[in-house]
Amino acid sequence: TLENKSALITGSTSGIGLGMARVLAASGANITLNGLGDADEIEALRDSLAQEFDVQVRYDGANMLKQQEISKMVNEAEDALGTLDILINNAGIQYVSAIEDFPDDKWQAIIDINLVSNFHTIKAALPGMKKRNWGRIINLASAHGLVASPYKSAYVAAKHGVVGLTKTVALENAEQMITCNAICPGYVRTPLVEGQIDDQMAVHKLSREQVINDIMLVAQPSKRFVEVEELGQIALFLCSDAACSINGISLPVEGGWTAK
Ligand code: NAD
Repeated sequence: TLENKSALITGSTSGIGLGMARVLAASGANITLNGLGDADEIEALRDSLAQEFDVQVRYDGANMLKQQEISKMVNEAEDALGTLDILINNAGIQYVSAIEDFPDDKWQAIIDINLVSNFHTIKAALPGMKKRNWGRIINLASAHGLVASPYKSAYVAAKHGVVGLTKTVALENAEQMITCNAICPGYVRTPLVEGQIDDQMAVHKLSREQVINDIMLVAQPSKRFVEVEELGQIALFLCSDAACSINGISLPVEGGWTAK
């Protein structure tokens, strides 16, 4: 159980981050949500999580493109809930295009949101974790942190960067009971992947079914999407005391994709 522990999960208004917030709240953690979206919908989400799991749930709308907002979010999460024990760097975006046509601003935004924001959250969260001699940092990398696919240059570069950052943070803090690990999912059916299906249909000139079966699930030997709930349970395990010696790994959760 995570009672008396607090977690901050970036990009938790949707998809994998929201799934992880639900699983951690269900085991008693107080939660700071973050992410973009409609203010009323986010407030309804915040309230329903707090009611359902009887924990404190707060929301911070910090934009992962803005360093000052990121640092402030981490500090306020710690002040408001008393501690910040678990940090999950999950916010991320995708863009699919050949390099010659890849818009410069999309490249920069993907590097900033998917990689640089992790540096800033970790930098702000570490002092408190060190003081308390306990911390869990989980970075959402991707199968694309371990292997590449065409047309995803910025995403693959950022996620490989996340894997490297994860190892470094693990080494620097290993004696303080702080672990830092990456989770590397294959395809999970979230709004991010729904958007990619549309993009891939345009790039490859294929139907929806062809993109799902011939491009996405062809990479995944299990031939099924990973479920958000599975990722939540894996994050929960990495937060447990049983996982205290697992440090610096990048755990593939992709139905066997990177075994090939
Ligand atoms: P999603 O689009 O459902 O959710 C992304 C979240 O990030 C949302 O809450 C969104 O509001 C937030 N976000 C985006 N830009 C932001 C910004 N500038 N500031 C703050 N928040 C911002 O996506 P998802 O599929 O749940 O992906 C979550 C993470 O998992 C990402 O890092 C993604 O790269 C990674 N991942 C996803 C898959 C997959 O198949 N879905 C596979 C591997 C890795």
